[in-house]
Amino acid sequence: MSILADRESRLFIDGKLVAGSGGTFETVNPATEEVLGVAANADEADMSEAIGAARTAFDDTDWSTNTELRVRCLRQLREAMQANLEDLRELTINEVGAPRMLTSGAQLEGPIDDLAFSADTAENYAWRSDLGYATPQGIPTNRVVAREAVGVVGAITPWNFPHQINLAKVGPALAAGNTLILKPAPDTPWMAAVLGEIIAEHTDFPAGVINIVTSDDHGVGALLSKDPRVDMVSFTGSTNTGRAVMTDSAVTIKKVFLELGGKSAFIVLDDADLGGACAMAAFTVAMHAGQGCAITTRLVVPRAKYDEAVEAAAATLGGIKPGDPNSKRTVCGPVISARQRDRIQGYLDSAIAEGGRFACGGGRPDDMETGFFIEPTVIAGLDNSAKVSREEIFGPVLTVIAHDGDDDAVRIANDSPYGLSGTVFGDDDRAQAVASRLRVGTVNVNGGVWYSADAPFGGYKQSGVGREMGVAGFEEYLETKLIATIAT
Ligand code: NAD
Repeated sequence: MSILADRESRLFIDGKLVAGSGGTFETVNPATEEVLGVAANADEADMSEAIGAARTAFDDTDWSTNTELRVRCLRQLREAMQANLEDLRELTINEVGAPRMLTSGAQLEGPIDDLAFSADTAENYAWRSDLGYATPQGIPTNRVVAREAVGVVGAITPWNFPHQINLAKVGPALAAGNTLILKPAPDTPWMAAVLGEIIAEHTDFPAGVINIVTSDDHGVGALLSKDPRVDMVSFTGSTNTGRAVMTDSAVTIKKVFLELGGKSAFIVLDDADLGGACAMAAFTVAMHAGQGCAITTRLVVPRAKYDEAVEAAAATLGGIKPGDPNSKRTVCGPVISARQRDRIQGYLDSAIAEGGRFACGGGRPDDMETGFFIEPTVIAGLDNSAKVSREEIFGPVLTVIAHDGDDDAVRIANDSPYGLSGTVFGDDDRAQAVASRLRVGTVNVNGGVWYSADAPFGGYKQSGVGREMGVAGFEEYLETKLIATIAT
């Protein structure tokens, strides 16, 4: 199979690669603005067929109880993706604009490798556990707790880390015994479509167990939240869309799992290595042009050292030029689309309108007329009430905010509708104390890395509901059944 040559991707429904009833739509290379090719455009009837296929596969086959089959299929998928790694890498760089260096981690190789965690978890999981003998209401009873698949899962995903997010749903949901429909973002349809091609050619997944439906119509994805045949929606994307998914899902009381936006804080305590911490905060914001939900985009520094911090952040970010994601040296590639670039520019303009200033960057690079590039930017002179301090920008933009001590730093970090992640740099005991007060799902203390297959990831407050990855992420896709048997 050649993943790269003359691509015109198909839908994957009920075990077959099929054309979309809505024709096709274009997918664009964000670094060059060239049309790469087309993807199948599903309409509502295609989505309904996919949901029906997943329902039948769940209700009428032994998929949900045949752990050996599920583990084998997931391992086959991992091996087949690894065998096609270099083609997938080129495709990912072209469609996502992902810098090449990130494809050896979270943009490609990491999530493929992490499929092993899902398979291993299913293989070793205690599907039934003994709650023991009791006499509730005086009746002698033996109790067993059984964990079972939820049923049909609708997975809706964004474009920023498509393999990571697609596979962090596909892996655990299927390992847990569910069947699934994956609806990827219209900006990166091939990242999901290629999964269907690999599954069709290289794995034993039974028909209907996994269905992949690409569409440029958000309404087609919304059917997953509305259709009563779907038991659960697993969504990653913006908080506004998450709200719509939750609202639509409420009608049929679906289980809803949400990974949403963030506006995370990087707190530098007054005893930290200021220059080193600010350089790290700045570098993180430039990675993949800031298109990561958990990136710490508010740098919260001691007021007495504010100017020094701004200078250190600008020295790092100003030195990072956005560039060709194909280059091994590029850290900051393009953002995904002209729409996204213009949205970021709107935020930059708002910073100036509110009295802020750019310590570096501030707009499109002068020398790059083609491609959706934005200069890495440090915004200074604003507090936590500014629009750029409160709203998710999803670009390479860092806002530096002054704090008046540890309590104030915690107050600022928590003064956000979001609660996804955070970082604290400083003396270890003080940093730990601050970390424990942050209302967020993951914290990096002095450079620790929270991203790992076995580590739960997710948000407090409007950053989400539930956890992805780790055993907690696997258990999101399970129901709990208590079986009480009369003791004789
Ligand atoms: P988005 O919310 O616009 O779209 C995400 C997905 O939802 C797409 O597949 C889209 O087609 C679909 N969609 C849109 N409207 C829908 C509706 N009414 N019903 C059902 N599906 C609908 O997000 P985006 O712009 O693609 O991605 C960027 C956002 O994703 C950012 O806010 C970012 O923080 C968030 N994100 C969060 C995480 C996390 O784990 N917390 C990870 C990555 C991205």
